[in-house]
Amino acid sequence: MHADRFVQMCGSDEPLSDTFVIDAHCHVGQWVGMHAIERDIEGIMEVADAIGLDRLCINYAACPEMRLGNDLVADCMRSYPGRIEGVCYVNFFEGGEEVQRAELTRCFDELGFRGVKIIDMRGSFYPQTRDWLDEDDPLRPTWEFAQERGASILCHGYVTHEIAQRYPGANFIVAHGSGVPAFMLTLADLPNVYCDMSATSMLAGTLELLCEAMGPERVLYGSDLPASDPGQRLGMVMAAKIPEAAKTLILGRNMQGLLDNVR
Ligand SMILES: [Zn+2]
Repeated sequence: MHADRFVQMCGSDEPLSDTFVIDAHCHVGQWVGMHAIERDIEGIMEVADAIGLDRLCINYAACPEMRLGNDLVADCMRSYPGRIEGVCYVNFFEGGEEVQRAELTRCFDELGFRGVKIIDMRGSFYPQTRDWLDEDDPLRPTWEFAQERGASILCHGYVTHEIAQRYPGANFIVAHGSGVPAFMLTLADLPNVYCDMSATSMLAGTLELLCEAMGPERVLYGSDLPASDPGQRLGMVMAAKIPEAAKTLILGRNMQGLLDNVR
């Protein structure tokens, strides 16, 4: 394969300005005990500008109170209109089904959010970490909401083959999925499951493997900014042994499609 324009730009000091790029997995706010390359939104946007990120999908899942965290994300959206996509964090420990649904509705209808984030804060990871019976599933309002709105859910834990199959109108992004390619392969047959490549550790050849197994249409560039350097992840896409058109999809077009799907 000859060197495409992305490969030729690797090592450049210039931002990737001629390609539409969305970082599908970013945060704001304090993450206790974790190093962050930037802490406030101004610093995060400086990093974004330096490498050419057009848009950032941001959540504040580490906030102990979900409304407060979502409001802080909404502040960021107001500060950088058109640059930030709000991703609503849902914490089912904070209340019952009504509280969960009310917060989702508030974020989407009043604050303009277009995505949902859930995380298993017990430190557990894939394969799935659900430990409740289906009829007691505390995240059911979130699955149902995403299904009604055609929204994507950034899932750090919790997503299973069964859940994704049960809610075909919702889209499921496996957060840090590039770090667990074997798990991703078990979901490869589901068209509403996507993989983000924000894993801290991503072995050589993983992106190529994911593209082959899932199709490049279901792989998303994401960095976990500010916990990780988005430039490093950007370089991994640019240098990958996949067609130039696939890189364009992964860097922004796929995530744009998921955002545009929301009603
Ligand atoms: Zn994250």
